[in-house]
Amino acid sequence: MTNFCSGDCADVLRQLWDFLDQELTPERMVVVRAHLDRCASCYPEYDFEKIFLEAVASTGRQRCASAQLRERVFACLRDAGYTGRAATAENH
Ligand SMILES: [Zn+2]
Repeated sequence: MTNFCSGDCADVLRQLWDFLDQELTPERMVVVRAHLDRCASCYPEYDFEKIFLEAVASTGRQRCASAQLRERVFACLRDAGYTGRAATAENH
């Protein structure tokens, strides 16, 4: 096991959408932010979800999808091999 913070990771990933929506308490925002800064396994997830939200926002309908729906869309995209890194690479 090279993952030094697996317990934290599950917690952080569960709260990622709320973090991106800034709907966590200020304390949780700080904890999640700090975790993302030092965790190599969570950061790509964060990066991808952020890009996804920005893409949704760019349609001008950022409030159209519930967290549950977004999570399903996100899972489908990831199943299809769509990653944050690929999206970044194509974005120019
Ligand atoms: Zn983590």
